[in-house]
Amino acid sequence: MSADCLFCKIITGDIPADVVHRDAHVLAFRDIDPKAPTHILVIPLEHTPNAASLAAADPAAVGELVQAAGRIAADEGIVEPGYRMVFNTGDDAGQTVHHTHLHLLGGRPFDWPPG
Ligand code: 5GP
Ligand code: ZN
Repeated sequence: MSADCLFCKIITGDIPADVVHRDAHVLAFRDIDPKAPTHILVIPLEHTPNAASLAAADPAAVGELVQAAGRIAADEGIVEPGYRMVFNTGDDAGQTVHHTHLHLLGGRPFDWPPG
């Protein structure tokens, strides 16, 4: 837990969110500024700044994030025609919140390579 972290405050309930899933490992909630019809953030309950840091601290936690995202994709009905999972890391990638989060995006086609 990090005192000045927005997503830690969502985990504790100090900041409200539209939660779609919670279990012993992860919390998932809808992005406040969605970039696609389905845009859900899946976050570990423990505070680490990015996915690589989480993998170093707790490799199993990365698996929990990806498994949860896959189940939520099925719940959202986006497995077909497809969806994207994204971990933005650092300034060039556009990371603005420094608590590890997986973006689950679906409901429209996405460009490749990304902008
Ligand atoms: P990043 O740019 O760090 O990869 O992603 C951070 C995401 O958090 C952005 O997509 C942004 O819209 C979302 N976000 C920022 N503040 C809040 C908030 O208070 N509530 C929710 N639900 N999402 C937020
Ligand atoms: Zn945090």
